[in-house]
Amino acid sequence: MGGTFDPIHHGHLVAASEVQSLFDLDEVIFVPTGQPWQKADRDVSEPEHRYLMTVVATASNPRFQVSRVDIERDGPTYTIDTLRDLRRLYPEDELFFITGADALAQILSWKDADELFELAHFIGVTRPGYELSESGLPDDKVTLQEVPAMAISSTDCRERVADGEPVWYLVPDGVVQYINKHRLYAAAPAAPPGAP
Ligand code: ATP
Ligand code: MG
Repeated sequence: MGGTFDPIHHGHLVAASEVQSLFDLDEVIFVPTGQPWQKADRDVSEPEHRYLMTVVATASNPRFQVSRVDIERDGPTYTIDTLRDLRRLYPEDELFFITGADALAQILSWKDADELFELAHFIGVTRPGYELSESGLPDDKVTLQEVPAMAISSTDCRERVADGEPVWYLVPDGVVQYINKHRLYAAAPAAPPGAP
């Protein structure tokens, strides 16, 4: 499961758990992106922070792992590189790429779509507010899967922290503590009175 995980939240975890169970997967490997090319317009937290929050969030589940392949590769993250790296690491295994409906909608626009489909089976999970549209996606390569709806996004979590609102129960407890400890997403301090 690829994502920015800035921060990881219970929507990601429910989706991963549900797909693991329904598809009887041995493991779900969370792969925090390096610099996501789709998010070049905003500051994404340090990869190490996103990696560690993902480790904290998944530590208690024996079927959940976290991979550093994307954060250790230079340059923007492309799914084709992620899957090539995972294929090298797991040459014998069947790979599934779990992604949200919003991200799946972009799959056909990826330039190496044919090779992507050779490397993995894609599972697009439902997400509140995003329609699952099957138009044009090859059925044998892509499965659309409903998962319990959790109207949570990382964007909303970041905005809540910046506004001083709680993110308890939207993200795992350890992630709340990690965010506080490292003062992630805090609003920039107000300028002192009289400053230009
Ligand atoms: P942001 O708001 O910063 O875009 P995000 O909440 O979308 O963050 P990502 O790290 O971008 O989180 O998401 C990784 C993957 O998880 C994406 O494919 C996304 O569609 C999916 N996803 C995120 N939130 C949910 C959710 N609540 N339910 C199902 N899938 C989700
Ligand atoms: Mg997103």
